[in-house]
Amino acid sequence: MTEPAELPGHRERGGLRSFPPPSEWDSFVAYDAKAHPRKVKREFMLIPTTCFNCESACGLLAHVAKDDLTVTKVEGNPAHPGSRGRNCAKGPATINQLDDPERILHPMRRAGARGSGQWERVSWDDALDDIASRIRAAIVDDRRDEVMYHVGRPGEDGFAERFLLAWGVDGHNSHTNICSSGARLGYSLWGGYDRPSPDHANAKAIVLLSSHLETGHYFNPHAQRIMEAKQSGAKLVVVDPRMSNTASHADLWIAPWPGSEAAILLAVASYLLRTRAIDADYVRRWVNWDVYLERLHPDAEPTFEVFLDRLEADYAPYTFDFAAHESRVPEAKIAELAEIVAQAGTALSAHVWRSAAAGNLGGWQVARTLFFLNVLTGSVGTRGGTSPNGWDKLIAHGFDVPAGHESWNELIWPAEYPLSTNEMSMLLPHFLNEGRGRLDVYFSRVYNPIWTNPDGFTWMEALTSIDRVGCHVALTPTWSETATFADYVLPMGHSTERHDTHSYETHAGRWLGFRQPVRRVAFEKLGREFTDTRDTNPGEVWEENEFWFELSWRIDPDGSLGIRRYFESPYRPGEKVTVDEYYRWVFENRVPGLPEKAAAEVLTPLQYMRKYGVVQIADELYRQDERGLSETELEGAVPDDRGVLRKPTDDESTPPLVGEAGSVGVRLDDGSVVAGWLTPSRKLELYSDTMVTYGWPEHATPGYIRSHVAADEIDESAGEMVLIPTFRLPTLIHTRSGNAKYLNELGNTHPVWMHADDAVAKGLRTGDLVRITTAIGHFVARIWATQAIRPGVIALSHHMGRWRLHDNDGSRWVTGKVDISQPRDHVWRLRYVEPPGPFDSADPDSRRITWDDPGVHQNLAFAVQPDPWSGMHCWLQRVTVTAALSSDQYGDVEVDTAKARAVYLEWLAKARPGPGSDGNRRPEFLMRPVKPKRKAFRAE
Ligand code: SF4
Repeated sequence: MTEPAELPGHRERGGLRSFPPPSEWDSFVAYDAKAHPRKVKREFMLIPTTCFNCESACGLLAHVAKDDLTVTKVEGNPAHPGSRGRNCAKGPATINQLDDPERILHPMRRAGARGSGQWERVSWDDALDDIASRIRAAIVDDRRDEVMYHVGRPGEDGFAERFLLAWGVDGHNSHTNICSSGARLGYSLWGGYDRPSPDHANAKAIVLLSSHLETGHYFNPHAQRIMEAKQSGAKLVVVDPRMSNTASHADLWIAPWPGSEAAILLAVASYLLRTRAIDADYVRRWVNWDVYLERLHPDAEPTFEVFLDRLEADYAPYTFDFAAHESRVPEAKIAELAEIVAQAGTALSAHVWRSAAAGNLGGWQVARTLFFLNVLTGSVGTRGGTSPNGWDKLIAHGFDVPAGHESWNELIWPAEYPLSTNEMSMLLPHFLNEGRGRLDVYFSRVYNPIWTNPDGFTWMEALTSIDRVGCHVALTPTWSETATFADYVLPMGHSTERHDTHSYETHAGRWLGFRQPVRRVAFEKLGREFTDTRDTNPGEVWEENEFWFELSWRIDPDGSLGIRRYFESPYRPGEKVTVDEYYRWVFENRVPGLPEKAAAEVLTPLQYMRKYGVVQIADELYRQDERGLSETELEGAVPDDRGVLRKPTDDESTPPLVGEAGSVGVRLDDGSVVAGWLTPSRKLELYSDTMVTYGWPEHATPGYIRSHVAADEIDESAGEMVLIPTFRLPTLIHTRSGNAKYLNELGNTHPVWMHADDAVAKGLRTGDLVRITTAIGHFVARIWATQAIRPGVIALSHHMGRWRLHDNDGSRWVTGKVDISQPRDHVWRLRYVEPPGPFDSADPDSRRITWDDPGVHQNLAFAVQPDPWSGMHCWLQRVTVTAALSSDQYGDVEVDTAKARAVYLEWLAKARPGPGSDGNRRPEFLMRPVKPKRKAFRAE
């Protein structure tokens, strides 16, 4: 029996009590499950690592058998302060991914046409030399924009930036604009941080505009804290048109018309102002109310009391009645929400991720109006309130971080979207198709854009063109629809097979997790020799950090390009850095308190991290806006007329400092000098001058933008409905659950949720096939008639509809085999010709597959719909639903990519291109990966 105190990061509430203590992790004896019912003892090493199956980065503990060093089980790491020993189903299912007989074990090179399924094995050396020589040529020829790294599942904060900055390549691309750009803009405009960090466990009220206890983002760490808060009496409010698992636990479930959420939240804000259920002291101290008055009411007396009166009057039109009309929700329910928020006071935790902010034109205003409630109630950074993510997160950079470059890649950061958060990656195939540029080396990193992104056939058109993409390198642990069309498929490890660090805002604390290859650690413990992680992984599976070290070295073997120096050991000058040395340096120099904690156990910092897999840096972390500034921060800083402390600099040859124009803090009216926020004013910006500077004065304040699928836009009499394609099943991952048999056994049907009344009106019953028609095509799915969704809306989860063209480059656990044809120019058809079913493999379970539903690849039938402000893909679709034709088959998809292009152009026309009136391509304070030097921000 383990005493909780033995586990670092343990909290009395929620801790595990039946677990071997870390002191026994090197030698743990358990019965061999495979020998059951005989009781055969086996000795294991329990080695920590970090889950890779969503962004939460929960701690895992791998059971490595000492006799043959196989990984037999993966479970929660009780030492992890975020996940506290618990995992969702996807964590333990890691074992399936390791043992998957379908996984990629060797580097592969295309041996026929792209997508032909013809592959040959290639050595790592040959692959590295070819890719390195291409990148070197692009750098030497100054074609740097032809190199792009496109990340799906994020890796280690700061690591990709390291090699891209060293190469001088502005080539970081992400999946963010199909995921969370909308919410990020809403939060960034308030405080400069792009995500919230709710302190759910201590809240009095929890308001979620996202399903499944936050939709996979911090899913398990948040879920357990939400349930703790409920047990302590907190109210849970879920705003979601669909009855999610979370909504089923809610005290109040509000099912609005999609896209009306900001109207509801503004009605609540108006109520708070009307009743003065606000924290006036907080608002006075931290909101830029003086700017609000100056810009909107220049003739008003500049006092806080006048400001409050004006603000109340400005938001008075957002009545419960107005919100009820927009949302089709009874006024009484909105009033109930308002009262719950008012009662919560400073203990209101709230989150919006995906869902409304990711679905709608102007969805970013949903996040902005949600945080408005935190600001008004003073529940910002408080116990039980909502902090910005940056307070609860540590980015542990490596040594000698390369300086910013001077490039600005308009394939990624186009002029049309100066406020985008982040890269406009979903538009890449359109940009390539219309000749804005080309790529010579395109890395897709654990990313499957043909399947995950909207408009997949346009991606396929671009990725099959050698002219547009010279060489596509897929870094992936599993086959995917996109890897099928690559030139190289390079196998990268799962969570127990790779190094990286992580830190996420799971609660009001800060921790750094260490993902590590557990067999490599076992090799070390047993004194076995190895050269790099490949020697300890299955087949020739590698890890990315060592891959990037090696690739960078080969790009610049003699150091003449100035790249190699960033990959030389800090301990052995001139020698190639090892991954041990890299993390040794990071843990010795970048993690506050870690050296001391390690020393207390007579360990080096690296040994400590190898032992526990995580270190807690801070707990009970609140009100970091009030943090006093250090002497170093203050050195040379002078306040401007609004108290913003800046370090005057004309230096255009460095990246912008954290705050705009080098601001480091703010002097408040009472004379205190504190860190504040990351906005230009270092305050919370109720009025955003940035929006004015970049051409959107009408959205300078939190407001309501009618969605492209607002109720008044939908012609219900003509059979139109709104399709929600954004919700997730908590047991599935986008692509990698395809290789986890336990997960496929848990979730293997893909129904379209439709309200029972709508089904009756359309003459449909559960199980009927329907044709769902979008702006660019249609798909064929199966109806589930239910009360668990609001009328007028249908929903289809975004995890199924997986397919393969060939048996040798797709996962047969989950994919159906398809035929893709092109009956006419631009018109593509996908049809399943073989459902998932039993297959022969080294795993006898592959003959026991009982499921045969591949699902429907709905995303193919969606055109890109970039929000003109945040750049977020507006996922919600205006569709018609009709009975399927006799010629239709389940899973059919047909798309016209010429129509897809027309829709792209239609949405592109909504944008207002930069630069801003300040001459910048984009505001310096907005987050931007691989931040270039300041002069690159200047439009000239
Ligand atoms: S929530 Fe589940 S999938 Fe995500 S990191 Fe935790 S255990 Fe893994």
